[in-house]
Amino acid sequence: MHSLPPCPHWICRQNQINLKKASCIVFIDEIDAIGQKRDGRAGGNDEREQTLNQLLTEMDGFEENTGVMILAATNRPESLDPALTRPGRFDRRVPVELPDLQGREAILRVHAKKVNLCDNVDFGSIARMASGASGAELANIVNEAALRAVRDNREYVTQADLEESIEVVIAGYQKKNSILTDQEKKVVAYHEIGHALVAAKQTNSAPVQKITIVPRTSGALGYTMQVDEGNHYLMSQEELENKIATLTGGRAAEELVFHSASTGASNDIEQATKLARAMITCYGMSPDFDMVALETVTNQYLGGDASLACSAQAQAEIDKQVIALVKRQHQKAGKILEENRNKLDELAEYLYQKETITGEEFMKILNQ
Ligand code: ZN
Repeated sequence: MHSLPPCPHWICRQNQINLKKASCIVFIDEIDAIGQKRDGRAGGNDEREQTLNQLLTEMDGFEENTGVMILAATNRPESLDPALTRPGRFDRRVPVELPDLQGREAILRVHAKKVNLCDNVDFGSIARMASGASGAELANIVNEAALRAVRDNREYVTQADLEESIEVVIAGYQKKNSILTDQEKKVVAYHEIGHALVAAKQTNSAPVQKITIVPRTSGALGYTMQVDEGNHYLMSQEELENKIATLTGGRAAEELVFHSASTGASNDIEQATKLARAMITCYGMSPDFDMVALETVTNQYLGGDASLACSAQAQAEIDKQVIALVKRQHQKAGKILEENRNKLDELAEYLYQKETITGEEFMKILNQ
């Protein structure tokens, strides 16, 4: 599970800048540097405003169709001056979202043109595994795979190179010397199986591509590669709750088996809290608050900071409901694991022995 980098926002316009070099394409990167909203304060940033004014004038020139295309990119479309994004200046906005499955496959093919490939390479399956990866990360995956092939004195990049490099890009390199004690390895195995088992029991489908308990340089002790659910734009309340339960599944397994908690769940806790809070403040999934927005998201493309827009009293109530929601799902996860204790033990033992198992192996043992 990893967070995603922001994606740039493109705006373009068949434009009339009076250039001697027409026809041409003018590309302005990070247009927010000069295109920020004018704040109307006297004695503001004069130079920047003059630059912007000049740009606006040039783009609105008198001559039509001189064959100049202007493209600009920004991560902060909401901070641009409205005069700049008005039709006649930049006519069209093209949000560049993270690529979907088809997009990822196509991007991989473009980057892979530069390397020698083995016949067995299946871009479809690589794209499926790299769920949530950005274009830059996909380029990096191909690059890492090529480096791995070179290190092994091979002339061709294989499927295995690409698969390993997905994990390198997402979770870092494998730590060569084992740093986990035997007991720690056991705890991590139960933790990862806890996540996967809770997910599998709620949806009755294979939730993971791969689970491994080989430590990575990013600090992750275990790592679960999730199944790409395809293009999924709407999520129901039930699905969100199940997701929270899955996130608490790791800790729930530790509690059930070892009767203690470890620090391994910090990332799960962060994600579960974020999700639960969003359900109440943004998605209107709490009966008490109905369809009232309690939070406004600013800066969608740069991390999406949210700021609360409600009374202190409501804030306290939100906190209470977030805690209750996570607690309910945590208990649900605990119950699922308790009911499937045999499978939990069996799967954790198998993962402990093999260190890396595939989703198919997981489902085979689960359904035996
Ligand atoms: Zn976890």
